[in-house]
Amino acid sequence: MISQIGRIHSIETFGTVDGPGIRFIVFTQGCPLRCLYCHNPDCRNTHDGKEVTVDYLISEIKKCKSFIRKGGVTVSGGEPLMQPEFTKEIFRRCHEMGLHTALDTSGYCAIDVAKSVLEETDLVLLDIKSYKPELFYQVTHVSIETTLAMARYLSDINKPAWIRFVLVPHLTDDLENIQQLADFVATLENVERLEVLPFHKMGEYKWEQLGLPYTLRDTPPASPELVAQAIAIFKQRGINAIGAVGV
Ligand code: SF4
Repeated sequence: MISQIGRIHSIETFGTVDGPGIRFIVFTQGCPLRCLYCHNPDCRNTHDGKEVTVDYLISEIKKCKSFIRKGGVTVSGGEPLMQPEFTKEIFRRCHEMGLHTALDTSGYCAIDVAKSVLEETDLVLLDIKSYKPELFYQVTHVSIETTLAMARYLSDINKPAWIRFVLVPHLTDDLENIQQLADFVATLENVERLEVLPFHKMGEYKWEQLGLPYTLRDTPPASPELVAQAIAIFKQRGINAIGAVGV
């Protein structure tokens, strides 16, 4: 029985930064990572948020159909692959309406679980939070292997992907970290673009509201020069890298 009910944090009806065109975004509730810079820390616990049906989301999506026709629907989070059947069913129904589907994921999921969701996914927005294993762990509190295996799998099945990398001064801006990530991404066959997302602190107040310790309080935002330097490293390897709206 396909899950028709899932737990979401919120929806956004006019998203412009999570995939091509104007998009309807579903932010699912629950995430296995604990990123230091998480801009949605209230998305992470699986028991928070609210339960909704796929029918409800589709009815909301239908209301926006005229302006998302050239964009589509993105399921983000949180981590959508924590609710694979729910996410797949949203995408399947979107495809019935002729809408483009994008999955925004950290890739921290068993490939066997992700497979059926990917059948209904047109584009994967894959966040790779660092390349050096110890740095990846420091940023996310999980290990890197699962995400890299997902990246390789997406390349093997030639699933279109945008890679996203959050550039955090004094943390992920380690030159070797970026160079090694660029070397890895250059081996993938399916990457249409790589977005460098400059760190900013717009989510800080949410950490404070939740009473969580925010360890990046003294970290400055990523400067345009730092972003340009990172983009150049990716471009040197033939990757279509651009600067994007940060987190
Ligand atoms: S993967 Fe996204 S939602 Fe999950 S902790 Fe990291 S930034 Fe937050």
